[in-house]
Amino acid sequence: MTDDHVATMPGPCERAPLLAGVAGHSLLLVTLVLVVAALTRWRLIDWPGLFWLASFAAMTAIRLPYHARNRGNAVMAGQRGTAERIVMVGMFATMMVLPLVHLATGVFAGADYTLPEWMSAAGAIALAPTPLLFYRSHADLGRNWSASLELQRDHTLVTGGVYARWHHPMYIAIWLSALTQPLLVHNLVAGALVIPAMAALWLLRVPQEEAMMRHRFGADYDAYRERDGRWGARS
Ligand code: SAH
Repeated sequence: MTDDHVATMPGPCERAPLLAGVAGHSLLLVTLVLVVAALTRWRLIDWPGLFWLASFAAMTAIRLPYHARNRGNAVMAGQRGTAERIVMVGMFATMMVLPLVHLATGVFAGADYTLPEWMSAAGAIALAPTPLLFYRSHADLGRNWSASLELQRDHTLVTGGVYARWHHPMYIAIWLSALTQPLLVHNLVAGALVIPAMAALWLLRVPQEEAMMRHRFGADYDAYRERDGRWGARS
């Protein structure tokens, strides 16, 4: 991605983040209602489904305070094109709404599949540390975090904490959630669709995000990138 792309972004201006206000509250309310509805059926849900639900609740609880705190951030630049909106809706649908609706109602039972127990256990083991990485990446980004592609007015480049080891720790955590979801929610619609959705987000978002950061932080960002290896691991 070249700087040409960044130049197509709107110039500096103050505005509310993409998920601020009524939309953000509605999403939270829908999520809460679905979690409660799923919990009322807990006897009908197998242990991998309950494990997924617990991890989902933990990750939602981790994000909520950052969502609330950063809602008022003044956004200087961002990418709100149609593609960005589509992948955001795709992630919201496949990572949250579809599995919660399925656990709450069993509506997609026709697309259920069975897996050997060890595969569910492997999914649970891989997912178990994910909320911690999700939490650390939110804590390290602090006021710089946003759910969508944005730069805050007083954005700083974070190079410490988990960002010293990886360039995209939050996306790694989300990848772990996405890859383990079909191992825990045994349904083609509610469990598996998140993988193509996350692949689309990753392929669209990462080059744009890196171009945006390079455009904003220039040599500092290049130095941060050079400090680390291809996947951000220290050499
Ligand atoms: N890609 C990162 C951050 C995801 S949150 C990760 O996976 O951990 C998305 C927002 O974080 C982007 O809009 C960008 O503004 C911000 N961001 C990404 N990397 C950053 C960094 N090293 N320092 C500060 N902000 C960063």
